[in-house]
Amino acid sequence: MLMSELIIKKRDGGKLTAEEIKFIIEGYTNGSIPDYQMSALLMAIFFRGMDSEETLHLTMEMRDSGDVLDLSGVGITADKHSTGGVGDKTSLVLVPMVASLGVKMAKMSGRGLGHTGGTLDKLESIPGFSIDVPREQFMRQLDEVGMVIAGQTADLVPADKKLYALRDVTGTVNSIPLIVSSIMSKKLAAGADTIVLDVKVGKGSFMKTDADAHKLASEMVAVGKLAGKNTVAVVTDMDQPLGNAVGNALEVREAIATLKGEHSGDLLELCLVLGSCILTASGLCDTMEQAREKLLGTIADGSALKKLKEFIAAQGGNPAVVDNPELLELAPYDMNITCDTPCYVGSIDALGIGMASLKLGGGRVTKESEVDLGVGVVVHKKVGDRLECGDRIATVYARTFEDMELGTRLVDDCIELVDEKPEVLLFIREIVT
Ligand code: URA
Repeated sequence: MLMSELIIKKRDGGKLTAEEIKFIIEGYTNGSIPDYQMSALLMAIFFRGMDSEETLHLTMEMRDSGDVLDLSGVGITADKHSTGGVGDKTSLVLVPMVASLGVKMAKMSGRGLGHTGGTLDKLESIPGFSIDVPREQFMRQLDEVGMVIAGQTADLVPADKKLYALRDVTGTVNSIPLIVSSIMSKKLAAGADTIVLDVKVGKGSFMKTDADAHKLASEMVAVGKLAGKNTVAVVTDMDQPLGNAVGNALEVREAIATLKGEHSGDLLELCLVLGSCILTASGLCDTMEQAREKLLGTIADGSALKKLKEFIAAQGGNPAVVDNPELLELAPYDMNITCDTPCYVGSIDALGIGMASLKLGGGRVTKESEVDLGVGVVVHKKVGDRLECGDRIATVYARTFEDMELGTRLVDDCIELVDEKPEVLLFIREIVT
């Protein structure tokens, strides 16, 4: 088989066979197919797309490019994945809630990329916390604590490691078959029985329209089911940041407060919906309502908070941060943006807020950038909220006085204030089963 012929076939709108996809993934992973040929093929896929069969073959070949975890015998296992957003600290709330109900949550998470945050960076704002969990500890902790959140090891889906880095620099990230195969190969290799996917839609996410988000969600669910997993996708709004905090330590503080029952907004709602999908799909609850009650119970009786402490301690972190969130250090300069005339919040540009946090040092400009875990933004209001004179709209946390001034200007530009109460978009757009 010749790679150049396969590039031409896809460029001209042809369909790649299972054998051809196997040749491509094996060749690219072992280095016999060079980056320049793979780049050309990725661009052909970007423009020509792939049908469901091709996407399934691509996902399976990528999954099999490295180790596949065997979690059989561990009990009921589940995994959750978000397509990436701003202020998305869902895993830090959802995973302890579900784990405290007996579902074993084995999560391989990622770092922030571009304007989107990553769970691993957030967790590293906890003093002492390690995201490197050796395989033996991974299995033991899953058994004893019921939850692990770790970095992806090099031997899991090596094909995606190479492909994702190449896509990132060749303008080919935003392709539905490439996103499906990238996410689902990793979820299938991580071995859980139930996979719940949070597909973001809106300005702050990769999918900008409901139609594209629906397509991505449906394709991922189809691939997951064909691979024998209980798979559900929830399409959720990412036009405005999720919750209030954007920035690593700030987001961990918000997650802890949510598990203490101090927050009841969109973040908690998302965790209840995703958690209910996990509990029903894995057969632990008959209805979404029953599951919701159980999940709320884990906050009311403190069991989710207790699980979070056990998890932090198991991965070397200081569990005292749960009782004393001030131990999660914030940057020294902070400034409020306040309202000077009665109005409503018309829109909050999630992408712009994510970029402001990035420019404050909270994200990576290159893969090697050092992340400042203490900087970020708290947007105190949501779209549609009423504001009176003097109300705080947002607070910017920065490492230097100059950054604080810059960050405040950037955040101010992201928040539109209007006279009339705006229409508020549905937060949970759909559940794809
Ligand atoms: N997240 C992934 O892991 N892969 C993608 O392609 C997009 C988001």
